[in-house]
Amino acid sequence: MIDLRSDTVTKPNEQMRRAMAEAEVGDDVYGEDPTVNRLEARAAEILGKEAALFVPTGTMGNTIGIKLLTEHGQEVVCDSRAHILDWELSMLAWFSGCLIRSVPTDTGILTWDAIKSVVKPVGPHWAPTGAIEIENTHNMGGGRVYPQAVIDEICDEAHALGVPVHMDGARLFNAAAAAGRPVSELVAKVDTVTFCLSKALGAPVGSMVAGPRALMDKGRLLRKRLGGGMRQAGVLAAAGLIALEEGPKGLPADHANAQYIAGRLGKMEQISVFPVETNIVIYDVSATGKSSKEISGALKARGVLMNGFTDKLMRAVTHRDVSRVECETAMDVLEEVVR
Ligand SMILES: *Cc1c(COP(=O)(O)O)cnc(C)c1O
Repeated sequence: MIDLRSDTVTKPNEQMRRAMAEAEVGDDVYGEDPTVNRLEARAAEILGKEAALFVPTGTMGNTIGIKLLTEHGQEVVCDSRAHILDWELSMLAWFSGCLIRSVPTDTGILTWDAIKSVVKPVGPHWAPTGAIEIENTHNMGGGRVYPQAVIDEICDEAHALGVPVHMDGARLFNAAAAAGRPVSELVAKVDTVTFCLSKALGAPVGSMVAGPRALMDKGRLLRKRLGGGMRQAGVLAAAGLIALEEGPKGLPADHANAQYIAGRLGKMEQISVFPVETNIVIYDVSATGKSSKEISGALKARGVLMNGFTDKLMRAVTHRDVSRVECETAMDVLEEVVR
């Protein structure tokens, strides 16, 4: 099977499996797992943040990051197709007790201009804004990357009003690779940030949430409450360290493969493809006369996995476990299915 459903499907390679088998471990709830401690220190260093926490999932990272910045009864501003809104089982309401104030955008990329009118101070008639959340890269926006000046303006203006900013950087390293900047620059002004080790970086499990040390100390307690106190988690962190150090090197190849796929889709008359900046390709199949479900079923029968997320829109995500040749095959198969 050529699996282009998501970059979450990447499997740990030989180097990771060896490191997992040999990992030095301890009880991380006591803070005694040396491998987890190394991963947390290294992630904080790379991000240029005081501290980081190893968490099982990106959803838990976002849940902790947002809880740390907000109080019950506040609003969190995000775009209308944000992962925290559409794909996290309303954890933000359930755990943080906040409402989402979503703002529609074309590409998922917010600007200060787009959000300034919904950012509200404390007042007698409304819920004040507790935090602003930005997603970089933007998943449902097709892997779009925030222009740095836009992030910086949102952070500067929000901070001037006393409002903190959380970045859902599930694919932060893809954003950095596309922008040609170190990740530390991308997150320099955000208060808290989450990124996934388990997507294109290739780890089997795990995400990081990072920010000021005092917040991460509190975050450690939230992680325990959420069921994320993982004991000898060094077995997982060992793979995470390799993902962190080695994973970013492979991202330009994934991005080139996504460009290749977009190029092939662009040549298919009944398909229209959205602009591609990283490893996510979104395309519209409505002109084929088939639904995305029918197309993904026909692809699957021919050994290619790609999902639709609406009736019309499908998504291909490139990653280290799909080669260029496999991308070529996948596009040959799609052409056949559309024909
Ligand atoms: C994958 C993803 C997450 C986290 O997902 P988990 O499955 O909980 O690790 C968060 N935000 C975005 C944008 C994602 O794509």
